[in-house]
Amino acid sequence: MPQAKMEGSSVSEILRAHSKDWGLFERAKDYALDYMGRVSDRPVYPAKEAIEALRVFKEKLPDNPSDPYELLEKLHRFGSPATVAQTGGRYFGFVNGGVIPGALAARWLTDSWDQNPALYVMSPVVSVLEEVCEEWLVELLGLPGGTAAGFVGGSSTATLCGLVAGRNFLLQQEGWDVSSKGLFGAPEIRVVVGGGAHSTVYKALSILGLGKDRLHRVPTDEQGRIKPEEMPEFDHATLLILQAGNVNSGSFDPYSEICHKAKKAGAWTHVDGAFGLWAGASDKLKYLTRGMELADSWSVDAHKTLNAPYDNGIVLCRNREALINALHMSGSYIIYSESRDGMLYTPDMSRRARAVELWASLAALGRSGVSELVEDLHGKAAYFADKLRQAGFEILNDVCFNQVLVSCGDQGLTKRTLGYIQETGECWCGGAEWNQRPIIRISVCSYRTTFQDIDRSVDAFVRARDRAGMES
Ligand SMILES: *Cc1c(COP(=O)(O)O)cnc(C)c1O
Repeated sequence: MPQAKMEGSSVSEILRAHSKDWGLFERAKDYALDYMGRVSDRPVYPAKEAIEALRVFKEKLPDNPSDPYELLEKLHRFGSPATVAQTGGRYFGFVNGGVIPGALAARWLTDSWDQNPALYVMSPVVSVLEEVCEEWLVELLGLPGGTAAGFVGGSSTATLCGLVAGRNFLLQQEGWDVSSKGLFGAPEIRVVVGGGAHSTVYKALSILGLGKDRLHRVPTDEQGRIKPEEMPEFDHATLLILQAGNVNSGSFDPYSEICHKAKKAGAWTHVDGAFGLWAGASDKLKYLTRGMELADSWSVDAHKTLNAPYDNGIVLCRNREALINALHMSGSYIIYSESRDGMLYTPDMSRRARAVELWASLAALGRSGVSELVEDLHGKAAYFADKLRQAGFEILNDVCFNQVLVSCGDQGLTKRTLGYIQETGECWCGGAEWNQRPIIRISVCSYRTTFQDIDRSVDAFVRARDRAGMES
């Protein structure tokens, strides 16, 4: 620590001293262990005071170097209490997974490597681990042999990559090289999406110049699944987007029939399987994804169902060339190799070595472990739904995967109940609208969730509803 305060040292001298100061890293480890040890006992959502205390960070950029011990202390004192305790067992918001200990530990180590997997020559080890993950994922999820994987920050980017590969491939078939000519004057592509598509799909379409308002939207059933009988005719200029896991209900589109038709017509099919694609890794649940292997590209997150640390998403593409053609670039200093150059598969050049945590997550669980984890999340969601039903709540979806949609009957009561649940800190759920009704949305997405966590959360639901009921 004293080095930081040495008068007259240059900043490089100071940093060099820190790079050998193991105490600094021991301190970080102590804080992290303190955090992890207490995460299950604290409010799931930070208290108001903890959030207000964050104002200590709102200061001007310091003129001079700061003591890194003081920075760590500040982060732990003010930052840790203001985190959302999503690595405990009672966070059910959005679709946010927990974190597998072995993967987190692997990340600690590999953060110290600070590798850049853009090119093989920049990091042989990460290139090899990307290759291994690609192979493991293809096998685990039941995708066609030879499918390529790109390691990106999340499903938003993965979907963007799948759709750009599809867009460019379809236009290439029409004799139009979009990467050089751009979209102006290009032949039209018809985009077909289900009414329940995730908002990131629309975002990707708008970025790609395909327009989020000029789509053919296919109506969905009461579970949010595309109705196959409402599908338009496909042709070789159709970009079709299906999903595995509706972000609210967790439902899966009926792939087999649709994908067969699309394939026959020469359309490109992308499946947004951010959290649901993992159903394919379970013998009991893979009936949900049956037929999705006929698609052309897929997006999936490791940081959701698999419980890998953030940020960890994957684009998968049956046609390796199509993905590379859409994303590669050149420059006189770039050294491509015979081995895997990761940047050929992603929009970014430099990026984190996130395949290491993916490798560690998959290896820590093994094939049977991934399957068991997915089934456990489903089983816990079903238990949650049963308990809530017994307590008089209404469950609005078939709990086919890990999502549960809850209503208190009356719309106002549902909204107020959700507000009180969020206030208690006992557990945390988000809200949404489902079939024009406000709902409380539960996602069981962490291996940390126990049956006791669910019982305790159901009690919190009941108390919140009682309190909300007294106001009506
Ligand atoms: C979470 C989610 C996304 C977005 O994924 P990110 O990893 O947050 O970018 C896309 N589609 C579905 C269905 C999702 O659940």
